[in-house]
Amino acid sequence: MSINILLRILQFNFIHSSYIMIVSKFGGTSVGSYEAMSRSAGIIADNPQRRWVVISATAGTTNDLVALSKQTSQGSEVERLLQLIEDRHQDIASQCTNASAALQQVNDLMISLRDHMQVDTKDAQWVDSLLAFGEDFSTRLFKYVLEEYGILVRLEWAGQWIKTDSRFGNAEVQLERIQPEIHSYVTAHDLESSEEVVLTQGFIGADEQGRITTLGRGGSDYSAALFAEALGAECLEIWTDVAGVYTTDPRMVANAHPLSEIGFDEAAELSVFGGKVLHPATTKPVRRANIPLKVLSSIHPSLPGTQILTNPMERPIVRAISVRKEQTLMTLHSLDMLHQPGFLAKIFSILAEHRISVDLVTTSEVSVSLTLDTAHKASNRVEVSEGVLRALNDFCDVEIEYDLALVALIGNAMNQTSGISGKLFSTLKDYNIRMVCHGASANNVCFLVKESEAEAVAKTIHDQFITLICRM
Ligand code: ADP
Ligand code: ASP
Ligand code: MG
Repeated sequence: MSINILLRILQFNFIHSSYIMIVSKFGGTSVGSYEAMSRSAGIIADNPQRRWVVISATAGTTNDLVALSKQTSQGSEVERLLQLIEDRHQDIASQCTNASAALQQVNDLMISLRDHMQVDTKDAQWVDSLLAFGEDFSTRLFKYVLEEYGILVRLEWAGQWIKTDSRFGNAEVQLERIQPEIHSYVTAHDLESSEEVVLTQGFIGADEQGRITTLGRGGSDYSAALFAEALGAECLEIWTDVAGVYTTDPRMVANAHPLSEIGFDEAAELSVFGGKVLHPATTKPVRRANIPLKVLSSIHPSLPGTQILTNPMERPIVRAISVRKEQTLMTLHSLDMLHQPGFLAKIFSILAEHRISVDLVTTSEVSVSLTLDTAHKASNRVEVSEGVLRALNDFCDVEIEYDLALVALIGNAMNQTSGISGKLFSTLKDYNIRMVCHGASANNVCFLVKESEAEAVAKTIHDQFITLICRM
């Protein structure tokens, strides 16, 4: 083989391999201190295919910004929260090799943040612009840390690509606008043949008028999935503070263990039912584009983590357990309900008029129980207003219960496997189980318990039930 041909093959392979792009997202704790940022930068430096990096605000910052957004006057609490944010970022900046430039960035952002707090109209649009400071701080500082690893960084504002409607606080993404924006960016900057790593914010979007919007709490995972889809990435990596997706929240159940793999459908259910490790919308874009998703630990990057894919090797009946706290149960009783067409429609239309959406429903002859959907709310707890109660009371008795938790078993073929409920309820004979939903989904069985008992219930079914059912 002539040297020319050999060179051309090598060149082809180099260009070809540079097309392979991994999108890597690092969550709050993975960028929560200089040490954490440095560990995460090391992970990016380790693999040149990690070319698109999405990060969250530093751990605790979005919570502090949410608390700031609720302050009605410029009192000492505002000052305390601003100081917390400043100290956290100054601490990171002061350890950067280029500390003076990094500290200057923190100063500049603090001036803008203080100015923002002085604005008179504190509406939802103002809140989103306030929350965006979190990811602005973290990306600006992370750029310095990445550069310490010799990485060439393009820091870019996510709002230029993540186009959304104007529903501040929980903006809906306009999918058709994202891909063309990203493609023209990649082409304009010839990213496929450059060595640059794009660094951008998770959680942030922009509406048609360019105003900042946010995608809902925990939304950086979703941003990263949208980028992975638009870029046709080889893989999406979610780097977090635990070693993958566990059988249940490892903070709640000490002997929970990481799963080596899980199906997209199971992972989607797990996150919808309270598994905070992934934002509930994350699986949608990667599943559409058939991009493998991995959840990995930025603290122990050599651990294998969890692979989330369309066809896992095994399909156990029960794979995991999730808990969603702060649930509200509404029970409606009426003798008129019996055989009366349109009764449920009436209830649903009243709830819809009051912008309450229903999550789970069970009915009996003279009563119907509903849990209220909180997917688009900052907190899981939905307070039912006097207005709704009055409207419903016109034709039925209404009972509202708060402080409940929804526990879900996540797995496969659950609606076709006999004996699941029997085994579940005999395991939980010491607990008062409220509403039960079984049969509607192949991937979950769920039920309500008192919130104060939720962790004990999760532990009990984790210890006894997972192993029991897996052997069925
Ligand atoms: P990040 O800031 O990296 O996005 P999050 O706090 O949003 O991290 O999500 C990671 C947390 O999710 C873990 O620390 C863990 O407590 C919680 N979690 C809940 N359910 C699970 C689960 N099934 N597997 C792993 N982690 C879980
Ligand atoms: N910083 C945002 C939040 O805390 C988004 C995220 O972390 O995913 O909700
Ligand atoms: Mg998260």
